[in-house]
Order: sequence, then structure tokens, then C-alpha cells
Amino acid sequence: MLNERVHEAINAQINAEMWSAYLYLAMSMDAEAKGYKGVANWFFIQYREELDHAHIFMNYLNSRDAKVELRSIEAVPTEWNSVQEMYRDTLAHEQKVTALINAIGALANEVNDFATANRMAWFIDEQVEEEENAREMLASAEAVEDNKYGMYMLDKELAGRTYTTPGPLASK
Ligand code: MG
Repeated sequence: MLNERVHEAINAQINAEMWSAYLYLAMSMDAEAKGYKGVANWFFIQYREELDHAHIFMNYLNSRDAKVELRSIEAVPTEWNSVQEMYRDTLAHEQKVTALINAIGALANEVNDFATANRMAWFIDEQVEEEENAREMLASAEAVEDNKYGMYMLDKELAGRTYTTPGPLASK
């Protein structure tokens, strides 16, 4: 049987991943409204990835015979002053998510839940990537700050980002 504290922590994390999805969807829609189609595409893919993270946790609870509890999703900001600000918020948000993921990993170790610890290993690696991507995007956005042509070129580049199904869902 899944440890009660682990069960609760993963249900809370499902909600946090859904909130992340909603945050990036809001950024995508705000970027659309500001005419940045490429930035909107980048954040829309980010939104899909966060939904995937929630699904991976749901699949995990189901496979451990532990009920998924879907809770209400708190409101997210809906407007940003600039694309740079979106990426600053993205990096800060991913750093918070990393702390949540690490805490679940630590809890799994504390209660000798090896299966959950293994599942968390994927998420721990994923957070290294998420933070790296956010840092790189923030650096790119800041490099072209106040430069219309630079923003235009960056937006074009981001239009090319494509979605890839994450490993744990692809192999299901
Ligand atoms: Mg996530």
C-alpha cells in the first residue's frame, strides 16, 4: 500500500502541475494577444508538457492502487509586461517546482518507498532540463530586449519548437 504521506504529496503535486499548465497557457494566450506567435507556440508546448507531468503522476497513483484526487486549480496571472518578464517568471516558477519535486523524493527515501523514489528520479532529471531551458530562454529574451528586429527573429525561431511526448508516457 502506498504510504499516506506520499499519496497526499503526489495528489498535491498533480494540482501543482495543473497550475503550471494553466500558468503557461496564460502566458501563451498573452503572447498571442501581443502578436508574438512564436513565443505563444513555445508556451503552448510548455503547457502541454505540464499536462503530461500531471498525467504521469496520475498514472503512477493509479498503478499503485491509490486514488487520484482532482482539486480546484487556483487562478493564475493573465498579463505580463514583456516577454522577458514571462521568462523571468518561468525560471522562478520552475525553481519552486524543483523544490516540490525534491521534497517528494526526500519523503520517498524517508519512508523507504523505492518505487516512488524511482519515479521521482525521472522528475528530478526533468527539472534540471526545465530550469536549463528557462535560463536559456531568459538569456535569449534579455539579449534582444528593446530591439524590435531581435524580438522578431527570436519570435520566428520559437515558432519552430515542436512537442515531444515525454518518456514515461511514450512507453505506456
Ligand atoms: Mg512540471
